[in-house]
Amino acid sequence: MNEKLLVQIDSCDDCKKCIDVCPTYTVSEEDLFSPLARLKSAKQIFEGKKVSEKIVESMYNCPECARCDEVCPKHIKISEIIALARVELVERGFAPLEGHKKIINGIMEKGNSVNGDPENRLDWLPDAFEERESDTLLYLGCLPSYLVKETAKSSYLLLKAAGVDFRILADEGCCGVYLYDAGAIDQAREMFAENTRRFNDLGIKKIITPCAGCYRCFKRYYPELIEEADFEVLHVVEVLHELVKTGKLRFKTGDKVLTYHDPCRLGRKEGLYDEPRELLGACGYEIDELEENRAMGMCCGAGAGIRSIYRNLSMEIASNLLDEASETVVTSCPFCVFNMNYASRKKGKDTNVKYITEVLYEMCDLP
Ligand code: SF4
Ligand code: SF4
Repeated sequence: MNEKLLVQIDSCDDCKKCIDVCPTYTVSEEDLFSPLARLKSAKQIFEGKKVSEKIVESMYNCPECARCDEVCPKHIKISEIIALARVELVERGFAPLEGHKKIINGIMEKGNSVNGDPENRLDWLPDAFEERESDTLLYLGCLPSYLVKETAKSSYLLLKAAGVDFRILADEGCCGVYLYDAGAIDQAREMFAENTRRFNDLGIKKIITPCAGCYRCFKRYYPELIEEADFEVLHVVEVLHELVKTGKLRFKTGDKVLTYHDPCRLGRKEGLYDEPRELLGACGYEIDELEENRAMGMCCGAGAGIRSIYRNLSMEIASNLLDEASETVVTSCPFCVFNMNYASRKKGKDTNVKYITEVLYEMCDLP
């Protein structure tokens, strides 16, 4: 076992500060589903000790939101340790779980993680598909392509309206973040390498994506596993923010009040807090902040593969979040949009959750 990891785990003094901020513990009230218990279970896993089914579940029903990391006085990277414990579980044959295997097979066979028909990948595209060259790729991702299509369409239209030179791919495929998050690191490496080869062959230097999961994957996980992956990776919010700053994109002024939800992978993990708020502010919108926002923004409960297996837990986490929000919630991750809208419907709430570019496109001052 990695000594540094062990030192980190052993530095825990049982202060329990992490427990109160954990969304899976709050919803389930099960001790094993708390950060502290997961940390202790991770040690057991790394030491090769016997692992129960419940411990395996506790490692996989964590959305790796990193709220626990934020409050730990010992600066233990609990969520990263959980991710490494998943890799170990795969190596020891406890995972991927059956639910993971189903999604992984879909990714291999259909090139997406949401069981979409590859023939329909571009259904959202408002224009006829044009095969064009550009060193900038707008990489939409599986959710925007198939399930939250307004995300794909409005991101595409806004970039076009601002005159950005980019291309899209009719057979985009999957970034592979699901494999990485499941701990299936060898399969993830293979997929990352294949995508990297393809992008390099196409002369891609810059990737713009509306998906917080794809963003983190291309930006952090690809370079971690693949030496040749050195693309510039930008979230669409960063690009639009720059376009507004330089006067290439302008908005009409509205007067709505809405809640902005910080997606974990964009906020806490990448520090993108001001850009989306400033974009909404440029439309004249007032932001009704959630009590817990920015670095302590509440997780929507969908990430790191949990929704595909523990759907009710994901839904309950999202539902708690919506209880505090205004009628319209805007966020910068299509998976958060999908899960929060699902929770809103299932729980009979009136909250309408939108992807940020959908709102911005409505307010775009087109020439
Ligand atoms: S990453 Fe989030 S869900 Fe997982 S243990 Fe930490 S606080 Fe809980
Ligand atoms: S906050 Fe950190 S030190 Fe305190 S119990 Fe949790 S992991 Fe241990």
